[in-house]
Amino acid sequence: MTDTYRHKGLRKRMVDALRQRGIQDEAVLAAIAAVPRHFFLDRAFEEHAYEDKPFPIGHDQTISQPFTVAYQSALLDIHAREKVLEIGTGSGYQAAILAVLGARVYTIERQEGLYFQAKSLLERMGFSTIKCFFGDGTKGLAQFAPYNKIIVTAGAPVVPESLRQQLAWPAGILVIPVGEEVQMMYKITRLSETEFREEVLDSFRFVPFLKGTQKQK
Ligand code: SAH
Repeated sequence: MTDTYRHKGLRKRMVDALRQRGIQDEAVLAAIAAVPRHFFLDRAFEEHAYEDKPFPIGHDQTISQPFTVAYQSALLDIHAREKVLEIGTGSGYQAAILAVLGARVYTIERQEGLYFQAKSLLERMGFSTIKCFFGDGTKGLAQFAPYNKIIVTAGAPVVPESLRQQLAWPAGILVIPVGEEVQMMYKITRLSETEFREEVLDSFRFVPFLKGTQKQK
């Protein structure tokens, strides 16, 4: 794994393109400029790592498009040391971005193969503050709750109640794409123990949020 000047140059161009598309959060753009996305992709796609596209990461899953990663990360408004739960580790790329933003990241994945892959890659890259878990994230990760922020990176048919309940208050934020074929991005802010504010934002296409786990074959 090497990060060359050429990769850095391509990343800078990608960041400029994200800015053009409307991403204004400079901390998020700096994190995207800092993390070598090509480490998270199969060699076969390395040439394309800095295009604004999703790519297959095996097990029928994809690494999210950089625009989507930037968009969700900006909505989370991460502050240093905040506890953040990510559901859908996938390649580990989004978790790395959150860690660079200063979060203490807990990330859970239902595909055992992806869990092992992402965990070992993040360790090799030196992300010692990211904690990876294998399990079904529809119930969140109650063990370490509450979280300042929760991000779901798969399309959920409905907002799981357990995720709302694992948000800290006041001001815990849940960012989740909701819908079957196409999803609307929801930003849910927990105002108090019982009150939540829901904002419905733009539309996206994610892989489905599935129940249960899938063992490595
Ligand atoms: N954040 C990832 C995007 C991966 S795609 C990245 O940066 O690469 C979404 C991931 O969510 C897939 O890996 C899928 O297996 C996982 N997923 C879907 N439903 C899940 C669930 N209930 N619990 C945990 N992970 C889930």
